[in-house]
Amino acid sequence: MADLVPTVCANASASKQWVRVALDVPLPGLYDYWTVSPAQLGDRVIVVFGRRQMIGVVVALPQEPSFDPLKVKEVQVVLKDIEPFTQSWLRFASFAADYYQRPLGEVLLPALPVPLRSVSSYLGKRSGDGPVSRLGKRRTASQQATSESVVPTLNSAQEQAVVAITQATSFKTFLLYGVTGSGKTEVYLHAAAQTLARGQRVLMLVPEINLTPQFEQSLRARLEPVAGIHGVAVLHSALSDTERLRAWLRVQSGEARIVLGTRLAIFAPLDDVGLIVVDEEHDPSYKQQDGLRYSARDLAVWRAHDLGIPIVLGSATPSLESWANVEKSTYQRLDLPARARAVTLPSVRLVDTRRLQLEQGLSPQLLQAMRARLANKEQVLIFLNRRGYAPALHCSSCGWVSQCTRCTTFTVLHRGAARRAQLQCHHCGVQQPVPKACPDCGDQDLQPMGRGTQRIEEHLSELFPEARTVRIDADSTRKKGSAQALFASIHAGEVDILVGTQMVAKGHDFANLGLVGVLNADAMLFSQDFRAPERLFAQLMQVAGRAGRHSGHGEVIVQTGYPEQAVYQALLRNDYSGFARHSLQERQEAALPPFSYQALLSAEARDLNVAIDFLRGARDLANELSAHYQTEAVLTLYDPVPLRIVRVDNMCRAQLLLESTSRPALQSLLRAWLKLLPEQLDARQVRWQLEVDPLEI
Ligand code: ADP
Ligand code: ZN
Ligand code: ZN
Repeated sequence: MADLVPTVCANASASKQWVRVALDVPLPGLYDYWTVSPAQLGDRVIVVFGRRQMIGVVVALPQEPSFDPLKVKEVQVVLKDIEPFTQSWLRFASFAADYYQRPLGEVLLPALPVPLRSVSSYLGKRSGDGPVSRLGKRRTASQQATSESVVPTLNSAQEQAVVAITQATSFKTFLLYGVTGSGKTEVYLHAAAQTLARGQRVLMLVPEINLTPQFEQSLRARLEPVAGIHGVAVLHSALSDTERLRAWLRVQSGEARIVLGTRLAIFAPLDDVGLIVVDEEHDPSYKQQDGLRYSARDLAVWRAHDLGIPIVLGSATPSLESWANVEKSTYQRLDLPARARAVTLPSVRLVDTRRLQLEQGLSPQLLQAMRARLANKEQVLIFLNRRGYAPALHCSSCGWVSQCTRCTTFTVLHRGAARRAQLQCHHCGVQQPVPKACPDCGDQDLQPMGRGTQRIEEHLSELFPEARTVRIDADSTRKKGSAQALFASIHAGEVDILVGTQMVAKGHDFANLGLVGVLNADAMLFSQDFRAPERLFAQLMQVAGRAGRHSGHGEVIVQTGYPEQAVYQALLRNDYSGFARHSLQERQEAALPPFSYQALLSAEARDLNVAIDFLRGARDLANELSAHYQTEAVLTLYDPVPLRIVRVDNMCRAQLLLESTSRPALQSLLRAWLKLLPEQLDARQVRWQLEVDPLEI
């Protein structure tokens, strides 16, 4: 590979070439430059844009520039330190940009590791020959994977699934539907092994960074013989810039045969993929929530389609979108009906908290079950999706509640190091000391209101002093590597009670966990969002699925004030398909997704009225356009509404929902609409953005 080729040194007789460049700027369009050093499609270039130097990607080699040739500037450097991106990769990024209605540069460049897209890593003082050559030959030593002693013999359901997947030679979407612990991972591993053996690579997505070490371990232990010692590359957002670059280069060079990662790994630069796996496909974390708001699951399906290969979406509680696709025969369902090790699923019990005296939020039933399991040397998981000590601080004499000054939310009480308490806003991040006395009435008796994981942990340590209790949430795992260490100690049996948020609910195969207690599930029950029950059900099934995976006599206790709700009843019967049928019917009657397609325009401004007015104007525009673009489709334009938490960081937020019975019609409407919006509406005081297929409404 050649090093940097500054254009000034290029042969003067070389002919001038036009290049069309995608830049990461919030403007639609591509930008033309010229160069005399050879530039290929997919090369990165350093150019001047406005007054800034930027790195862009060459996405076309036009015959003529699209504007006055005399005004076209020269490329400063054509970067040749990595191979140009392939056509197929560029096509993928273009699709994502079109589908999510964003400029191509805003998709392409953020997909790259930071060193490959920042000018300073090439032209800075200490940049030398650029980040790639600086990496040098040094590589992080790959430890020998601990070889997994036994490869289980597949049961017949697993066998059938593997056969179906590996026999597919062109695009096909499989929904691997298997209860928790049914051995879906084993199916992925077998199918992956066969794909690798055919000389093709495997792309595997998992929803959580914390699941990558466990998967990486199994992949390496099992697939190293076919993939090679450096055959697994891991991509996720917690890697340092250098680690990410290193992994990316191993993927691009073809050295990595298996690419494992979280949602961003869908942008990994590889084409010779033979199989894509999306584990826990229903998981909301496949949706990127800022910048380009893409769904990695949906993009994965498109990519498999584009590459003409099979894709496996795995879940115990598939998204209703995927379930509907099975019913339409767009996807093929593969069933793993039973647990692979333990034949029985955990038993579920609902504890009605309405008539109970709770002790610090814990029912006598749960406490008794905990005692029994601990006496039996089994682990217990208490699931509470609320971090911190208490959701708010409260004055019992005047009713004052701790509130964020910048957001319309309570500030959460946290216990820091040395038990120093603090109030934190989970929306804007502001941190304040705890007041000594009530700011309103001066009373000194301020009390925590409600419970978070810290408080439950504290209480359980008092109640079960002989048990070893740990807490796993975003706070206790902030330090790099700490989550992995905590999970390792659980697997090693050094923990008796785990208190955790959804971080512990996903994917982990705890061998000795007998009991799961669920606290405060009701919080999600009465959300405005039509997907709330679906999400709650998936979350409950998933956390319940941590119990008794190896022993087969697991137990789940859910404390609720609404045991008669459909979600809980379905959980009790372990009835996903019944729940899905019922929910899909409701969605169909209400013409909600997957029976319609949505887009969400959100706006924020200092003044709520400004945001709402902007959205009203936008709605009127959409209304006018709909005559042209929704001829055969039904377009529903809802009223602009403020968000439930209306003010965050002193910005007031509102949204406008669009719904159409036709996806293509909605897409063309959105395209035209986005062109008109900035022209026709005064958006100086508004920050706005469009989200296609929003997950949260
Ligand atoms: P899932 O991903 O469906 O939740 P896993 O793949 O984690 O389930 O499997 C659950 C447990 O069952 C794991 O400990 C796994 O090693 C084991 N297992 C999977 N398949 C088999 C099999 N065919 N025979 C015995 N054990 C198996
Ligand atoms: Zn007070
Ligand atoms: Zn705040």
